[in-house]
Amino acid sequence: MKSYRKELWFNVPTRRAFINITEQVRECLQESEISEGLVLVNAMHITASVFINDDESGLHHDYEVWLEKLAPHEPVNYYRHNFGEDNADAHLKRQVMGREVVVAVTNGQLDFGTWEQIFYGEFDGGRKKRVLVKIIGE
Ligand code: ZN
Repeated sequence: MKSYRKELWFNVPTRRAFINITEQVRECLQESEISEGLVLVNAMHITASVFINDDESGLHHDYEVWLEKLAPHEPVNYYRHNFGEDNADAHLKRQVMGREVVVAVTNGQLDFGTWEQIFYGEFDGGRKKRVLVKIIGE
């Protein structure tokens, strides 16, 4: 069995953003030279997510509105976690949107359903953060 590991780095200038990282994961898969196996992609920070969905700007706007209703950033002092911090909402948003995805690798390709794309979800930007890509197989 072959194994591959890489960290992707992000420094998002805004507090929140959704970034399509499908091509970067595809490049990792090509580098790995694995043709049958599994790809794990996970955020290495507790205020960021990795998830799979459609690359459609209306949907991303809907996520933003929905997540702000579930866990509004303001008022900051509403949250017990915000004792010297202001990112309690980012922890909650990350929980909803998930930590990681796993994608099957078949014939050297990401074996997606129609419209599936991989996204990095940032909920507390303005600093460097990492995403782990781990690929196992043969
Ligand atoms: Zn925090």
